[in-house]
Amino acid sequence: MDGTDHLRDYHGKRHFDRTAEPRGGRKAEVALPRFVVQIHDARRMHFDFRLQVGDVLKSWSVPKGPSADPRDKRLAVPTEDHPLEYEEFEGVIPRGEYGGGTVIVWDRGTYEPLSHDRRGRPVDFAASLERGQATFRLHGAKLRGEYALTRFRSGGDGEEAWLLVRAAKGGSGGRGAPDPRRARSARTGRTLAQVVEEDG
Ligand code: MN
Repeated sequence: MDGTDHLRDYHGKRHFDRTAEPRGGRKAEVALPRFVVQIHDARRMHFDFRLQVGDVLKSWSVPKGPSADPRDKRLAVPTEDHPLEYEEFEGVIPRGEYGGGTVIVWDRGTYEPLSHDRRGRPVDFAASLERGQATFRLHGAKLRGEYALTRFRSGGDGEEAWLLVRAAKGGSGGRGAPDPRRARSARTGRTLAQVVEEDG
């Protein structure tokens, strides 16, 4: 049965030349999970790197942002899970509030989970993050290629810390983090300063 049959009753009751309701026809996507990188001009300028895992965005604060160069190991400090809708968020968080400052969506897109065990067999991505070693390929407008997130310090007596590194064999192409003050939103083309001007 194709998708049209499911909508036979729906279509039978409507005249689409007279109603603005949707005809339907969009296929459910076999969707890859999403990622987003936001630039956050807070107390300290940083990048927020978020990967969709199930119904949340797993999040890390990355002071220097992701690099396209496999030789750069970028510190990534975990922060709380964010809702999926946060992918869209761009604007000014009022001073004095948590994370007070300006946010732009620097890049976003989908990613392919690539985590595998020592024998090269694919493993559940969420479980690989819990174990502190996850690999994935980003398909963004700016970030492209294979990256790894690796926990190197557990949160026992201090801050949990990870490294975000581009894989050496992860192909070429894509860009790394820019000067955050010159960077433009992937959503609206705006700089941080323009967002402050318009939304602040
Ligand atoms: Mn942040």
